[in-house]
Amino acid sequence: MTGPETTVLVVNSGSSSLKFSLVDPAAGVALADGIIERICEETSHAKLGYRDQEIAREVRAADHDAALRLVFDLFAELGGDLDALGLVAVGHRMVHGGQRYHAPTLIDDAVVADLAELSPLAPLHNPPGVLGIEVAQRILPELPHVAVFDTAFFHDLPAAAATYAIDADVAAQWQIRRYGFHGTSHRYVSEQAADLLGRPYGELKQIVLHLGNGASASAVDRGRAVDTSMGMTPLEGLVMGTRCGDIDPGIVFYLARTAGLSMDEIDTLLNRRSGMLGLAGENDFREVHRLIDAGDAAARLAYEVYVHRLRKYIGAYLAVLGGADVIAFTAGVGENDAAVRRDALAGLEPLGVRLDEARNTSGDRGARVISAEDSAVTVLVVPTDEELAIARDTLAALG
Ligand code: AMP
Repeated sequence: MTGPETTVLVVNSGSSSLKFSLVDPAAGVALADGIIERICEETSHAKLGYRDQEIAREVRAADHDAALRLVFDLFAELGGDLDALGLVAVGHRMVHGGQRYHAPTLIDDAVVADLAELSPLAPLHNPPGVLGIEVAQRILPELPHVAVFDTAFFHDLPAAAATYAIDADVAAQWQIRRYGFHGTSHRYVSEQAADLLGRPYGELKQIVLHLGNGASASAVDRGRAVDTSMGMTPLEGLVMGTRCGDIDPGIVFYLARTAGLSMDEIDTLLNRRSGMLGLAGENDFREVHRLIDAGDAAARLAYEVYVHRLRKYIGAYLAVLGGADVIAFTAGVGENDAAVRRDALAGLEPLGVRLDEARNTSGDRGARVISAEDSAVTVLVVPTDEELAIARDTLAALG
């Protein structure tokens, strides 16, 4: 068997986890992938798949450095050989590029320093991202490292969509604007949608619904993102697994002044203990459905709140775009949960959206059409692949 000519290691470093994927960009496949979770805790959990083998075990990863070294050890244990696989670069998922960074960027010391400076904009996400870069550079110093930004696809939002209606001087001083996130996924999925339909990307008006544990919607007008639901931070917009999405900002003042919560407590409440978890006690939709089937009223309400918000955004983006050619569902919920897709689009026939229920529930896995033949808007399920998109962007940045 001949191996791939070039592979890219994609690293996605979170505060207590490190996800990685060894991608063959030409073939569009991951050769190996896995995750180390609970880094810095007493025991960490490691999972790595390579070819058709898998390791899943409790390990000790005292820090991110140890975690990444462990990845290579486990990979070697399964017979993997990075040299033989033609590893040429490392692509890093960075959540926030601020105003300055949007194109995939070859990382040098100045870039690392800049990214560290952006940390106040994304305090939960950028510091572990920078840490991941530093660790990977230490372990693989001979390879080029490239940062790919989650905000990139939205850097060019029209000012009307990117601007918050607050004091303009304050906004400018503190770089407050809609940045948007999950951009790698929104771009990948909208490009795949055009491919699937055999239509030019630059001709389609698309609504992309990235519904995972984090969730976001975007309106893509002939290749350009013109609106998105996440904002200055990933907290705004749709109801998510553990985040509230849109709420009245007055609730924050009320929780601080009247309920006496600290800013950190409110941050935790809205980012980690809200959304489906806050309403239903579960953030996994499979569990939410199980609870609903068992007659749980809180889970039913959570589901209805989720679907209602989603419908509002679909309606809003139909208006922003002046009608759509495509609505594309992606990520864990979007790809797997036929009920969410059905309920979010129910009754939208007057707006040109008609689902085919047999297609919607077919159980197929790949990119596929789920609307009826006579639907003016083509509804798609398109599996996202952020790692592949990052790997391709990484190679593109290297020319
Ligand atoms: P992601 O963030 O894209 O990995 O999505 C993770 C979420 O997808 C989980 O928290 C679940 O809510 C949801 N999910 C995954 N598999 C299924 C499934 N078979 N049915 C419904 N929801 C699913």
